[in-house]
Amino acid sequence: MLKTLKTYFGYTQFRPLQQEIISCILNKKDTLVLMPTGGGKSICYQLPALMMEGTAIVVSPLISLMKDQVESLQANGIAARALNSSNNETENANLRLECAQGKIKLLYISPERLLSEVGFLLRDIKISLFAIDEAHCISQWGHDFRPEYTQLKVLRQQFPQVPIVALTATADKITRQDILRQLAMRDPQIFISSFDRPNLSLEVKRGYQQKEKIRAIVKFIERHPGESGIIYCMSRNGTEKVAELLEEKGFKVAVYHAGLDNLEREKAQDDFINDRVQIVCATIAFGMGIDKSNVRWVIHYNLPKSIESFYQEIGRAGRDGLPSDTLLFYSFGDIVLLSKFAAESKQQDINLEKLNRMQQYAESDICRRRILLNYFGETADHDCGNCDVCRNPPERFDGTIIVQKALSAIARTDQQVGTRTLTDILKGAVTQEIIDKGYDKLKTYGAGRDIPARDWQDYLLQMLNLGYFEVAYNENNHLKITEAGRKVLFGHATAQLVVIKREERTVKPSRKSTRKDVSLQPVIPTLIPAIFEDEDEQLFETLRQLRKQLADQQAIPPYIVLSDKTLHLLASRQPRTLDAFGEISGIGEYKKKKYGKDFIEAIEAYKAENKR
Ligand code: ADP
Ligand code: ZN
Repeated sequence: MLKTLKTYFGYTQFRPLQQEIISCILNKKDTLVLMPTGGGKSICYQLPALMMEGTAIVVSPLISLMKDQVESLQANGIAARALNSSNNETENANLRLECAQGKIKLLYISPERLLSEVGFLLRDIKISLFAIDEAHCISQWGHDFRPEYTQLKVLRQQFPQVPIVALTATADKITRQDILRQLAMRDPQIFISSFDRPNLSLEVKRGYQQKEKIRAIVKFIERHPGESGIIYCMSRNGTEKVAELLEEKGFKVAVYHAGLDNLEREKAQDDFINDRVQIVCATIAFGMGIDKSNVRWVIHYNLPKSIESFYQEIGRAGRDGLPSDTLLFYSFGDIVLLSKFAAESKQQDINLEKLNRMQQYAESDICRRRILLNYFGETADHDCGNCDVCRNPPERFDGTIIVQKALSAIARTDQQVGTRTLTDILKGAVTQEIIDKGYDKLKTYGAGRDIPARDWQDYLLQMLNLGYFEVAYNENNHLKITEAGRKVLFGHATAQLVVIKREERTVKPSRKSTRKDVSLQPVIPTLIPAIFEDEDEQLFETLRQLRKQLADQQAIPPYIVLSDKTLHLLASRQPRTLDAFGEISGIGEYKKKKYGKDFIEAIEAYKAENKR
């Protein structure tokens, strides 16, 4: 097994559970694999496919996913093909022939196609195993339900001797039961790996307005020069606005949402996968169809509606296992809107509860990863050290007076205001509404002048989360004081608030540095930071360009030529012989022969140039 792993995939070790799962499949047992995105599910069925006689049939729900998998297998010299609606008749005829001759090790197929081939192609070839990828699509309870998946139970009846392996990153019990039952799996072995993704850093920023968010995003991306990332927004408008603002700052951004036509969406996805744009601003619709292993960061511009969605979306970063960063913004407006959606949805109670848990995550003052793992039923016994709470624990102060000012203002308006008007009252602003309603005559008018409006937004969000007031979604989002709030208002309890920490503004260049001076400075490209010791950042950039060139020549994405991790290893170990090149993780026999010479030459040229 290890030999096959190195020969074809270039890896020298299995990830947790991979070896056990592979043995199980080789023993022809039905198997269910639950692993997080990036956990390494593919190898679990690809390796047995290579070791067993015949062709493995892989069911996959999306053409783009099949394409990605087939391309990466072929890039490792493995005979893989896809049978789907994007093929023409000649291609299909050839494919059938190759399958019948036993030349194909893995055949990817859509579920509807599979069903129509049960009595034809599948009868004519020797099948090693069935792999059902994204198996949660079988469950109506899941988020990606596909009716065709429910008919896959014919496989167990029609091919009793062929093992079935189902794989998914959705771990909940109902989905799991559904998969086992609907595929009619026989005495299935179930493998559940940890859902922890320690390479993803976690960070939350609360109560930022648009301008501050953009400023924080720019700073964040500057720490990731040239590295791919996704920004998730709640609305289509949001994606376009954020994209526009980032483009003004000079970034290459694509937009992806359900309002675009298929071609536009395909282009956005394609540009992203092939590193032609660095950033995609997307609604949640983006991501299921991509396996890009070098997404280095994910930002949520708005709060997601549940921890499941959140985890799935950040999971698209760092599939190659390298450190990757995630950032979540969350504001009062998000809560108001999401609560409204949840309250109006079919499964109101469940959805409100899910939102509630998401909110608790965002508000947490204990290690955020512990909360996530806990949510997925795993207990973590230590703090992660890779989230903002671990790195910078929140500080609290006695905020009783601040809370009293706000609650008193709410009370004096007969609880007829939302956060905006409340802030206006506290700040002593002069607006039409304030004058019309006589709020300027209230005792609390202007009582919070000393606190900036944006900090009021933050404090009000904290107060909502502390349960001092509620938002009446059915009454223009007016704020209603709760029992807990009344206690603070009347001095029977104190309130602990969290100290607000803001991004420092980046200092603008002073006026003295005139245009002329600036243009005289050489443009220094910002380099992607090293990951390994002894890694040469400049060499990494050189190799990255070579990778892009090789990728473009073959019309495949750069991360399929070599992963980011392999590239970083090359820039650190700097192999000068083919054997040394072949020892690098991620380089199997095929890639060694195909790319070894090019990369060794590039390294030698670089060393010769930089000798001193
Ligand atoms: P999933 O399908 O679970 O999201 P993948 O199968 O796409 O994950 O694997 C994620 C990444 O991890 C891929 O780049 C893959 O090549 C890599 N990978 C898988 N197994 C190993 C391993 N044993 N050693 C090193 N890298 C691995
Ligand atoms: Zn932590």
